[in-house]
Amino acid sequence: KRDRMIQTEHLNVVSELAASVSHEIRNPLTVTSGFLQLLNQSTNLSAREKEFIDLSLQELQRAEQIVSDFLSFAKPQSANMVYSNMQEELEYTRSIIMPYASINEVEVQFRFNNTLKTNYDRNQVQQCLINLYKNAIEAMKGREGGVLSIDILGRKQDILIRIRDNGVGMTKEEISRLGKPYYSTKAEGTGLGMLMVYSTIHKLKGSIEVQSEKGHGTTFLLTIPAEPMPS
Ligand code: ADP
Ligand code: MG
Repeated sequence: KRDRMIQTEHLNVVSELAASVSHEIRNPLTVTSGFLQLLNQSTNLSAREKEFIDLSLQELQRAEQIVSDFLSFAKPQSANMVYSNMQEELEYTRSIIMPYASINEVEVQFRFNNTLKTNYDRNQVQQCLINLYKNAIEAMKGREGGVLSIDILGRKQDILIRIRDNGVGMTKEEISRLGKPYYSTKAEGTGLGMLMVYSTIHKLKGSIEVQSEKGHGTTFLLTIPAEPMPS
């Protein structure tokens, strides 16, 4: 199908893009860490100043980790591989997104009913879910009665992840542009979130179905084949 072809083409630029983003972000992180470490060696620092520097270094370290995690989809293997049913990922990502949902007055409903397992990279699946939740919440921004519903269900041989919102929705044309690098309709958008989602699901040999109605909302249905044993 035509949409599928276009989406696959986009995936080819992912590693290239990842490498350049990685370079752009890691450089300033490294330079800043270096200067902070130099400052830390100064002898006339108060305990408070030292504490601030240490906290800053920790935060930079964390940022570096996030960059690596986001970009780990460019690597063929990763230390985060697990064989699991995604329950932990659902619970963890739900707790991460709750504050963002609250600020935007969005109600979050979730349902988990899955015993099927597959092999996946924990960071990538978490990143993928968070990107989808964030988009859903952003689509409901400033609208009343926003509800984000997240379901993970086992069905036959597949793990189904359904993420539904009653936000602004998309036209067919807009749907076809999802996953294109830098495609964003938001003032501060990166247009990289959906690229990451498509890339992750593609790697899991899964598929993504998008149902959307302009003005009414959107449902993302991810279908990921279960695997009979750990690899
Ligand atoms: P960003 O969120 O930075 O704009 P994404 O790649 O995450 O980039 O999403 C690309 C675009 O897809 C968004 O700008 C938005 O127009 C559209 N989109 C994605 N998810 C939804 C959704 N749930 N409802 C409406 N539009 C969406
Ligand atoms: Mg996004």
